[in-house]
Amino acid sequence: MYEFDYLKVSSINEAVSKFKELDDPRYLAGGHTLLPTMKQRLASPSHLVDISNIPDIIGISTNNNEVSIGSATTHHAVATSETINNLIPALAALANEIGDPQVRIRGTIGGSLANNDPAADYPAAALALKATIVTSEREISCDDFFVDLFETALNEGELITSVKFTVPQKASYVKFPNPASRYAIVGVMYAEFEEGARIAVTGAAPCVFRAHEMEEALKRGEELPEIIAEGLNSDIHAGAEYRAHLVKVMTKRAIENAK
Ligand SMILES: Cc1cc2nc3c(=O)[nH]c(=O)nc-3n(C[C@H](O)[C@H](O)[C@H](O)COP(=O)(O)OP(=O)(O)OC[C@H]3O[C@@H](n4cnc5c(N)ncnc54)[C@H](O)[C@@H]3O)c2cc1C
Repeated sequence: MYEFDYLKVSSINEAVSKFKELDDPRYLAGGHTLLPTMKQRLASPSHLVDISNIPDIIGISTNNNEVSIGSATTHHAVATSETINNLIPALAALANEIGDPQVRIRGTIGGSLANNDPAADYPAAALALKATIVTSEREISCDDFFVDLFETALNEGELITSVKFTVPQKASYVKFPNPASRYAIVGVMYAEFEEGARIAVTGAAPCVFRAHEMEEALKRGEELPEIIAEGLNSDIHAGAEYRAHLVKVMTKRAIENAK
């Protein structure tokens, strides 16, 4: 690891203003992506601005048909939240399947969404559950947030403060995990709303995406269509054809399991 300076902040304003003053800073939340990246020398920020102790961005609350989760809330807190287990059990189950206990106890929802790893679980939940990403600057619809591989709509220094999920009629997340890391080789979040179902797929492509053709087929009461492998990820874990097959199988299971 290269040398860097570390500072801990206690408010959103302090985090954002410090970030602006510094040379090449990065926010540090759970550190479960950023620190391994730094160890591999793929990132060498001058400063780490630790946001993990800002009270305003930790915790879970509800408002009408929405569940709001502070960005520095850990995967463990989401997995064990009574509110989330009652209102969106699929989201609690998803959080409970992220990595291992060490990852869940430190890793945060905001870090996961900001990072937008193509195999991460939360992006699928955000996209299927009509999430709004609330930041230090604005509110961003999930439909506009995930741009490409490790790329989001966030501006430099823009801090995610919370994520608002819409409570569905029913939902389910099914993942085919990499047996070592537990990241999704393919993961499918299925969520039903009055106007129809939303199906979001992670792991299969460079960026999380909605399976619009499947959603339309369900609306028409038809069989799920075959998935075209072209453009899907192909690596040592699974080829594109296999991933295409998994998308359909995981989606079928998610529909069957939805509650
Ligand atoms: C062994 C292992 C297994 C894992 N398995 C899985 C898995 O199965 N599924 C899965 O989804 N993930 C998995 N992860 C990743 C894990 O969920 C991370 O916790 C997560 O991706 C990043 O969250 P973090 O809080 O650790 O972020 P950090 O590592 O602290 O930060 C990640 C990036 O996001 C930025 N950032 C952090 N918070 C914010 C914010 N509020 N606003 C703006 N930018 C921010 C940081 O600057 C950095 O660029 C695994 C990680 C490890 C090490």
